[in-house]
Parts: sequence; C-alpha cells; structure tokens
Amino acid sequence: MTKEQRLVSTISGREYPFERIEEFAENGESLEVRVCGIETAKARAGVHLWERFADWMPFDRTDAAISLGEGDTPLIPAGGRLQAVTGIKNLLLKNETQNPTWSFKDRGSLMCVLLARELGEDTVATISTGNMGHSIAAYAANAGLRAVVFVPPYTPQEKLMAMAMHGARVIRVAAPDYTQMKNTVLELAGRLKLRIVSGNGPIRVEGYKLTAFEMFEQMGRQVPDFIAVPTSACGHIRGIFKGYRELQKAGLIDRLPRMIVVQARNCSPVVTAIKQGFDHVVPFTDFDTVAEAITSGNPPGGDEILDKARRCDWPAEDVSEEEILQGQRDLARAGFFVEPSAATSLPAVRRLVDAGRLSPDSSVVLMLTGAGLKDLNALKHHPCNAVIDSDLESVEADVAKLLNR
Ligand SMILES: *Cc1c(COP(=O)(O)O)cnc(C)c1O
Repeated sequence: MTKEQRLVSTISGREYPFERIEEFAENGESLEVRVCGIETAKARAGVHLWERFADWMPFDRTDAAISLGEGDTPLIPAGGRLQAVTGIKNLLLKNETQNPTWSFKDRGSLMCVLLARELGEDTVATISTGNMGHSIAAYAANAGLRAVVFVPPYTPQEKLMAMAMHGARVIRVAAPDYTQMKNTVLELAGRLKLRIVSGNGPIRVEGYKLTAFEMFEQMGRQVPDFIAVPTSACGHIRGIFKGYRELQKAGLIDRLPRMIVVQARNCSPVVTAIKQGFDHVVPFTDFDTVAEAITSGNPPGGDEILDKARRCDWPAEDVSEEEILQGQRDLARAGFFVEPSAATSLPAVRRLVDAGRLSPDSSVVLMLTGAGLKDLNALKHHPCNAVIDSDLESVEADVAKLLNR
C-alpha cells in the first residue's frame, strides 16, 4: 500500500489526496507528491535505483516485474566536436534514448503502471503526441493492463505502429490544436472515472526525479551547474529538479543545479513567458515545428516553471527550425542520433553562451530525450547525399573515386 503521501499544489501549497484522479488543482496548478520523512532519508544498497532511493519513493515497494529495464542510461562527456559547437568544455550528455522505448518517458511510465496496480485500476490512459503513448503502451502490455492513448492527427506513424504493436487502443482526435484537444480529453477523467495521465502529472514526476538520483551517483555526488531540458508539458524538467531538491532536503547535496528551459521558437509558451517576466505561460496556437514531441502550446500547470525560473534564476532559450535541424546533424556527426525535439538544447546552449548567460567554464548536462529513428519523416529536411548508386561493374571505380585512389 501507499505511504502517507499527499499531493500538494506547486504554487499555493494546497493539499489533495494522493489518489486524486484529476492531475491538476482546480485552479490549474500542477501537483506534486509530498513524500514524508525525506529529511531523514538515506541512500541504501540495492540493485535498482528505486531500491537505493526507496526512502524517497511514493510507494512502499516497487515490483521489479513492472520494470522494462528503464534508466541506467549513460552520462558521458560530449567530446571535442560538441564542445566546439556549444563553447562549453565541461559538456555532458545524458543519453535517455537508451531507454526501453527510446525516450525518457519510460521512467514516468513505470510509476504510472505502479500506481494503477496499487489502486487496482485495469486501464492506463494517456494523452500524447507519441512518445508517452508508446511508452505507456509497452509498460501496460508488460503489466497486463489495458492501454488507451489519445493522440493528435500529426503523431508520427512510427510511434502509432509501436503503440499498436504493444496492443494499445489509440484514439486519434481531430482538433484545431493539441492544447484544445488536451483540455477536452483531460476533462473526461473525472466523468469517466478514468485516470488519464498527461506529461505533467504528479506520478510521472516521481519517475523523472529518479534521473536526478542516477546522475548524482554517476557524477560522484557532485551537482552540475546547469541541466538543459527540451520542454513541452513540463513534467521532465520539474521532475529532475524535484529529485535534486529532495537530495538537498536529505542533506546529500548542498546546492541545486539550475535548469535551462529549452523550446522550439515556433512553440515557446514557457520560454517566451520567462524571457518577458510574465506570471502565466503565453499560449501558442497554429504553429508548425519539426520538433513534434515538444508541441504543448499551452501546457497545463506550466506556470510552476515560470515561478521556479524566476526564483532560481533559470536561463530559458528558444531555437529556430534551422537551428534544430543543424543541432540534429551536429549530434549525429558526434555519434548521437536523436529526434528533433531532443536536438533543441544544443543550439540553445550555444545561444546562451554567446549572450553571456552561460560561462564557458560551467558544467552543463544536455538531456538527449528521444531517439532519431522515432520520427523518420523529420529526416526529409536533411540533405541525403550519402548514397552513391553503383553496380557490379562500376563499384571499384566508384569507391576509388571516393577515396581519391
Ligand atoms: C516528452 C518529450 C519532451 C518534453 O518533455 P515534457 O515532460 O513534456 O516537458 C522532450 N523531448 C522528447 C523526445 C519527448 O518525448
């Protein structure tokens, strides 16, 4: 059973029951789990991250059979090429593309499925542009739960096929934009008594916070100066930060990293608001971007990020379509093939260095959120001159020419 946890609204601090089916407070604020006893929490020995950090977890125990082996992803120095691109020497990549469904979403899906099990629910429903639906579909399949995924019309075929392969039912909802679709679908939750998890729900955030614990171990208990996060629904960025906050509460670290909020310029409701010093996100509608996984034009609960950015002095940056595609090529040329959304933070960091907002001496982690083969259509934007058509007669001449021999 669950510990004595409560949900707390992240700006005004109002309390709600842990089992609450709606993901946000009535006033739209995001909710987070307040885990009791963190002040005295201790890291322990254990095979799984959730065992070593059991004192921070919202559940008394985690069933290892629910896991698909998420997490444990590499945190590696970026290498000379990307150091040169960004101007940051101490640049690290957290390669979340190595999760079971090739995005960080798997860390949150583990928690969603655990919650469904704890509460005896037979269905996990989610709303997603693709990656979360894919992830939930896989975790539900493994746990023997039914998965229902609401998607917008522009979800890439690769992600739809993956959901279908895992046995999920997909409801593709025509709507003028994703925000309207999201609001309408999330409102169904209470009426249908159906828990519909969004990208910014409190339980997913509990999964994402494990990323902070993992990096804390990987960096030998050190904290990076900055962590750059491609942001859409805002669950990932606040989850990572919550993890560090809770490590600090337990006395394991004495300072917090600063998050870098990154968005595509064509859909930058959070970054625009931070840059303008607003209290509320600036809704974006009718936009188009190659970064399909970060298209929440008006993310529910997004004001929390503005609040934290102001209080903790978080940099925020948006990048153009050309910069995103160039970033995708730069990362690929360094050996990391990510989808366009995941490529946004590289050019964003470059911009912040140029603007004097980031010192070249700071340590910066880029979150590589999702893998390149998850969106093949996006690749049509890149010149493809790698292929030389040849045949058995001319193959020797062709390769000789290529090698200048
Ligand atoms: C979901 C996702 C994001 C954005 O994360 P949020 O928690 O929605 O802010 C970024 N990149 C990729 C690849 C994603 O799938």
